[in-house]
Amino acid sequence: MAKIVVEQIPVLTDNYIYLLHEPESGATAVVDPAVTEPVLEHLAAKNWRLTHILNTHHHGDHTGGNIDLIKHTGCVVVGAARDSERIPGIGIEVGEGDTFMLGAAAAMVFEVPGHTSGHIAFWFPDSHALFCGDTLFSLGCGRLFEGTPEEMWRSLKKLRDLPAETLVYCGHEYTAANGRFARLVERDNQALHVRLEQVEKLRAKGRPTIPATLADERAANPFLRADMGSVARAVGMEPDAHPNLVFAELRRRKDVF
Ligand SMILES: [Zn+2]
Repeated sequence: MAKIVVEQIPVLTDNYIYLLHEPESGATAVVDPAVTEPVLEHLAAKNWRLTHILNTHHHGDHTGGNIDLIKHTGCVVVGAARDSERIPGIGIEVGEGDTFMLGAAAAMVFEVPGHTSGHIAFWFPDSHALFCGDTLFSLGCGRLFEGTPEEMWRSLKKLRDLPAETLVYCGHEYTAANGRFARLVERDNQALHVRLEQVEKLRAKGRPTIPATLADERAANPFLRADMGSVARAVGMEPDAHPNLVFAELRRRKDVF
């Protein structure tokens, strides 16, 4: 099976755009192009021709470059069928369980509502690469603009079940701020402390903390750990409290943190 090469482009304040290239066919996709110019510059530098845009959700800082990139390159936009009205220029509509082929590289599509109602994620199993937009962040998760805590927890569990070696390519560099909240929740979590040290070193050098591995996230991200007794206790609940309730309380506390 074909693997993809991933190029990470930091834009705006804290957004990441990703270029995905499948060398056998030359197919190239951009994930969540907030803007146009940096994408065109990177394509020119690599001598890659853009064939697709993959949108995880409709927010402007993930789709702002869609129409211009279509004009410049003739690429096709892949987005959620259930959000087709809000994805600018959508050409291929996908949903849960669909497979999208970037050349010879297969991506599975997951519906992960919560941040928005039509949020999707793309998983390239042969490259261990997950593009999850604003659903799962390193040490955090997206705000619930259009979904319930129950929906978001179900979405996060779906992503948590992917293989441990999965690389989590999320939409924003929020890790350090997320870590400050995570540390309040699980003071005694060793994995979290190791990750925080690593994050501090990377940010001091101006380097990205993304991608994170799913193994690290399972061990350190409180929003993937709402079914752990220690996390329930940390938000003032019984250790056997329902994870939906624990997750809702975690999200509420983070919103006002
Ligand atoms: Zn968003």
